[in-house]
Amino acid sequence: MQQPCSYSAVLMGSPILLKLAQHDERLAHDVFRLIRQQENLFTVNRAGSQLMAINAAAGKHPVAVSASVFALIERAREVSLLPGCCFNFAIGPLVKRWKIGFKGDSVPPAHELKALLALTRPELVQLDKQQHTVFLPEAGMEIDLGAIAKGYIADRVRDFLHQQGCYCGLINLGGNLQTLDAPEGETSWAIGLQKPFGEPGALIATVAVSNKSVVTSGIYERYFELDGRCYHHILDPQTGYPLDNELLSVTVISDSSLDGDIFTTLLYGLGVEKGLALLADYPQIEAVFVTRKQQVVLATQQPFRLLDESYQVIDSTA
Ligand code: ADP
Ligand code: MG
Repeated sequence: MQQPCSYSAVLMGSPILLKLAQHDERLAHDVFRLIRQQENLFTVNRAGSQLMAINAAAGKHPVAVSASVFALIERAREVSLLPGCCFNFAIGPLVKRWKIGFKGDSVPPAHELKALLALTRPELVQLDKQQHTVFLPEAGMEIDLGAIAKGYIADRVRDFLHQQGCYCGLINLGGNLQTLDAPEGETSWAIGLQKPFGEPGALIATVAVSNKSVVTSGIYERYFELDGRCYHHILDPQTGYPLDNELLSVTVISDSSLDGDIFTTLLYGLGVEKGLALLADYPQIEAVFVTRKQQVVLATQQPFRLLDESYQVIDSTA
């Protein structure tokens, strides 16, 4: 078998890895350029993005955005309004205040979080389908697509590679992985699931997939510790504090990486039991939950191989 060629870069604050069946410097260059272009639309950390323009106009006026940005915001709003859903695309003010992953190392005062909660109401965000405008009616409101931008971009990379006639490869956007066909002679890619709080590169297991997205969201990625508690970067939109439950990570396997990204946050908020109940309604979405009790709960049909014997596998599909 011919080994795939790897290309890497650091974009969106994350290590990016592209694998192609054949050496193709030009194609790799075009893929990284596409990622950069897409990031420039969605970042909330640098001036000039369409999202920053919307946030800067909060309480003032609607802002017209491109069709693709509008469509992603529309989807984000729809998901944020699902009953009991902890995904909230208007979470920006809380994310900014906590600064987790961006030098944040203290718990903001409760009264401040309470005040900010009033600005994180997705139902207030006004969308105009005809004009493609987005309006945040209250000053201080902010959209944050940090939970789903990478998934959306991973799908764009897949589409681009297909358009270029490239059908074998994978793209890993710092934990958001989208796979094409497996390398010649193989039936799948073995995707490693990282060990929460383990050494870099330490894996709990691998899952074998092709032409599927694998997205992992874990509390070990960005967090700080204080007085024995772990404050991580997925916030509970009801309380304003990081979500606190039995989960260390959730991996979602799906066709679309955007779906994967949405479902990791959603399942994170639900926990194992309610998460499994939700998945029963979405047969095209599969998941792997890793819990604080060292359990790996499988809700997937993809071949799964445990590498770390200190974890116990519970197959919910058995
Ligand atoms: P990453 O893969 O970069 O670790 P995730 O996909 O897990 O990121 O999403 C975490 C990011 O999503 C946070 O850094 C923040 O920007 C945003 N976020 C945090 N809490 C929520 C929430 N409840 N709903 C939507 N987005 C959130
Ligand atoms: Mg995500």
